[in-house]
Amino acid sequence: MIRETRLAPGNFILPLFVLPGSGIKEPVASMPGVHRFSADKIGDEARATADAGIPAVLLFGVPERKDEDGTDAWKDNGPVQSAIRAIRKAAPRLTIITDVCMCAYTTHGQCGHVQKGPGGVNDVDNDATLELLARMATSHAKAGADVIAPSDMMDGRVGFIRESLDEQAFDHISILSYAAKYASGFYGPFRDAADSSPKDGDRKSYQMDPANVREALREMGQDIAEGADMIMVKPALAYLDVIRAASEEFDHPLCAYQVSGEYSMVMAAAERGWVDGPRVMMETLTAIKRAGADNIITYYAKEASRILEKGEG
Ligand SMILES: [Zn+2]
Repeated sequence: MIRETRLAPGNFILPLFVLPGSGIKEPVASMPGVHRFSADKIGDEARATADAGIPAVLLFGVPERKDEDGTDAWKDNGPVQSAIRAIRKAAPRLTIITDVCMCAYTTHGQCGHVQKGPGGVNDVDNDATLELLARMATSHAKAGADVIAPSDMMDGRVGFIRESLDEQAFDHISILSYAAKYASGFYGPFRDAADSSPKDGDRKSYQMDPANVREALREMGQDIAEGADMIMVKPALAYLDVIRAASEEFDHPLCAYQVSGEYSMVMAAAERGWVDGPRVMMETLTAIKRAGADNIITYYAKEASRILEKGEG
């Protein structure tokens, strides 16, 4: 009766990994309970997600072929584009959000167009990357995505993508911006699932310093000014103060991404019997909501919804 924070399946967004090929549903070793699907196999998962009361999925693609500029990212029959169409058919009411970034599609694993900088280190060319991101976003919109989620952290990307979408009559498509994405050690297992580790160098030049919160608020304000409809903090549990600050500063819907490392740490400890997995998961999800997140992107979405449904949360 006096509980202040309530989780509901309607708060969750389930991330899904899509592979090229057909007939594939394979487990991700570093993320117990998480699978990668080919587009023809994703319909059942989408239906189960919708049936659990979860309103949205977030798609990540693994391309057939990587190249220097990640040109597979805007292929009309690429894994993500095909998955969008399959999900739309299997679960028409599910909101389809797609991740937009080049890192899973480039041979070098950086998030955009690369130029050799001083000392031979790879440097991402911000402005050349915007063009690639806009092509990828438009291709997803054309396939039927509802929300485009740019995760690359290039400067000016939200405005650039917004303009490109509008020009091609996709002005009804929303943008969920990874506004505050920290250079975090918690992304390890995801890079397994999405084959997206940088081959050399890292992403510190365009992801945020974990020590900064005012910078996060500036980035979010900037993305909102450029036309973001929703904003995100990523990762979640180590950045609850950032979520809190963002929820107090902005009126826009606020997502928090409980990332792969947050998920896998709990699952691994639970496997060893060191913690009560479901209990710790529900506790962390509650904390993220309590901090001020409206929606939580979590690999635990279906399981959490089941627990809530049974009244055990
Ligand atoms: Zn990236």
